[in-house]
Amino acid sequence: MKLISIVIPAYMEEKNVSRLYKRLEEVTGSIKNYRWEYIFVNDGSRDGTFMELAYLAKSDSKVKVIDFARNFGKEIALSAGVEASSGEAVITIDADLQHPPTLIPLMIEKWEQGFEVVATIRKETEQKTRLRQLASIIYYWLMAMISDVRMVSQTTDFRLIDKKVVEVFRTITERSRMYRGIIDWMGFKKEFLEFTADARTDGQPVYSYKQLFKLAINSITSFSLFPLKLAGFLGLIITIFSGFLFTVIAVSRFVLGSGYFSPISIVVVSNTFLAGITLICLGLIALYIGNIHNEVINRPMYIVRERLNFNDKEEKPLR
Ligand code: UDP
Ligand code: MG
Repeated sequence: MKLISIVIPAYMEEKNVSRLYKRLEEVTGSIKNYRWEYIFVNDGSRDGTFMELAYLAKSDSKVKVIDFARNFGKEIALSAGVEASSGEAVITIDADLQHPPTLIPLMIEKWEQGFEVVATIRKETEQKTRLRQLASIIYYWLMAMISDVRMVSQTTDFRLIDKKVVEVFRTITERSRMYRGIIDWMGFKKEFLEFTADARTDGQPVYSYKQLFKLAINSITSFSLFPLKLAGFLGLIITIFSGFLFTVIAVSRFVLGSGYFSPISIVVVSNTFLAGITLICLGLIALYIGNIHNEVINRPMYIVRERLNFNDKEEKPLR
């Protein structure tokens, strides 16, 4: 029987984990012919989340727990869970019950049909404020404009990935990461399912605006060198434009005489020209920095305090 891993990042979800566990049990109990493991990653919660998880792990050996030594963020928690998984497919799902486990049978059906990534699209979120919606629209628009990766808007981290995708995922080393961005970047055969988000039952959505902004910036800088190249482009435009102006001025001085453009205009235009050149050089340097930025990062991505119900004793954080 095929093993399917469900990975759940949890930060301050003491009320939600056991509820989610119950719902997962209902769903997985209704699907025959698969074995399951639930990998909860406790992302340094300061509440009773770990206690709840330890309790679940004691009564059910399917439940495996990775306990982070501090809060590393959802993207890294997801990565750790996926890294530790041993299933033929891995399903990632939020702990806050906003992702309906009832979609899992359909995901598996699609996977059995040969799709290697089954992503989900959240149709509407009553909870999201206008500002969040606007921010999300702008973000996806910006990403579409400047990056090579095609990101479908409103997709969520609730997705199934095949073991093949997991294998590739394990080789990815960047630290400022965005889970779904990386999965999208890889390609593979993809299918989308839709769902409507349930309202959060307990606890707060813990991604603050500040964190979301950081995530957006991270994903922009890690999937696109555009911001770095911007200086270069600007420089190019300024150089061409002022070069053109300079030629016009120079020529007209010869042809029409010196009365038409004051000497100061010549100074200004040649200054602008030089500023353009400087920016181009900055852009070039930025390209090199971009390469370095892609290479340097090599600290363990997360620190594990404890692992429950894992058979392999050793833990090797992603590098
Ligand atoms: N989460 C986490 N670490 C964090 C923040 C969140 O593991 O630092 C988990 C959280 O427990 C939940 C999921 O990530 O299972 C999504 O979090 P949230 O509901 O705050 O995000 P949103 O639904 O707004 O994307
Ligand atoms: Mg949520």
